[in-house]
Amino acid sequence: MQDENLGFNSRAVHAGGFEDPKGSAVTPIYQTSTFKFENADHGAKCFSGEEDGYIYTRIGNPTINELENAVANLEGGFGGIGASSGMAAVNIVYLAFLGAGKHLVAHNSLYGPSRAIMESLYPKYGVESSFVDATNVENVRKAIKPNTSLIYLETPANPTIGITDIEAISKLAHEHNIPVCVDNTFCSPYLQKPLELGADVVLHSMTKFINGHADIVAGMVVSKTEEHYKMMRGVMVNMGFNMDPHQAWLTRRGLKTLGIRIDRAQENAQKVAEFLENHPKVEWILYPGLASHPQFELANRQMKGPGAMISFGLKGGLVAGKKMMDHVKLALLAVSLGGIETLIQHPASMTHSKLSKEAKDIAGITDGLVRLSVGIENVEDIIADLDQALRSV
Ligand SMILES: *Cc1c(COP(=O)(O)O)cnc(C)c1O
Repeated sequence: MQDENLGFNSRAVHAGGFEDPKGSAVTPIYQTSTFKFENADHGAKCFSGEEDGYIYTRIGNPTINELENAVANLEGGFGGIGASSGMAAVNIVYLAFLGAGKHLVAHNSLYGPSRAIMESLYPKYGVESSFVDATNVENVRKAIKPNTSLIYLETPANPTIGITDIEAISKLAHEHNIPVCVDNTFCSPYLQKPLELGADVVLHSMTKFINGHADIVAGMVVSKTEEHYKMMRGVMVNMGFNMDPHQAWLTRRGLKTLGIRIDRAQENAQKVAEFLENHPKVEWILYPGLASHPQFELANRQMKGPGAMISFGLKGGLVAGKKMMDHVKLALLAVSLGGIETLIQHPASMTHSKLSKEAKDIAGITDGLVRLSVGIENVEDIIADLDQALRSV
């Protein structure tokens, strides 16, 4: 059932378009590397593209295709391309749109490796990049060069929760014929539809909200046009960035409850954010659901809800941050995000500890910054846990 008129949750459950010949209610795991042809002629037609048959799992597999179709349906795109991880998805986009002599403009606060590979690996292949504060559109305009071939955004960004205006930047980019890619991991299509706002490509770490159960690593790219879809699918197939069928099956299962999980996590996050905002040991807080967020109005316009990610700063810096980490009991002290369980981490002593002071300042990562991914537990338990951990600070 692929009806475009159905609501989000109905499509999250039913979209994908797979009909099992044996009537299985759930798409089976096609745990196979290769597929039998009916005869030599059929094999030839599958290879030439005259027929749609499956050939080999790196190229395509029914379990993976169902997930690709479902996510593309929810994002409103032409097609989805499953990837072994979110970073594989990032690399599919970089490799498809960049190359020797090309230039990337990207937001300065990105998921760490998305920026690190652009600075350490891609220059070896002749790719240039400029990282700017894209929360101000003028900075993007100034960074565009004649050889800019991709604008890459992440909104809300990790871990600073900065919000970039997808519609305004897409309009600017298209005046220069430059495609725009948005990493939509923090929102998922339930809260934000970058393609509807003008972006050309959306990518996900499905490790986070889409799968939502902290039990797999997976990625996805969705394109608006068939042309971009073909370019990126070629990269995935030939670089071997494919998902495996079991990973796709678990992710498809997680996707079914995406909307209701986010509803609950977001409702919790709003209450947790209000609690933290009034706490004497908290110096500042960034959450798009609070009027104190500098882009509260843009968040309201661009996102269906503020999501479940909160960053806040403790009075007392690094020492206070580590103290709090050592005293949480319900929240897991762990990186990653978007799962059913509340996760807490301290970038200055963990994910971003290797950055220089200067790089941390530029990325807005202060010593007291704590990042919280609010889960679906009972909110009074989450608040009680944070409260007792804050008392230790
Ligand atoms: C986690 C994450 C990634 C990378 O995804 P993996 O599945 O870990 O490879 C990319 N972008 C964002 C915003 C992320 O949070």
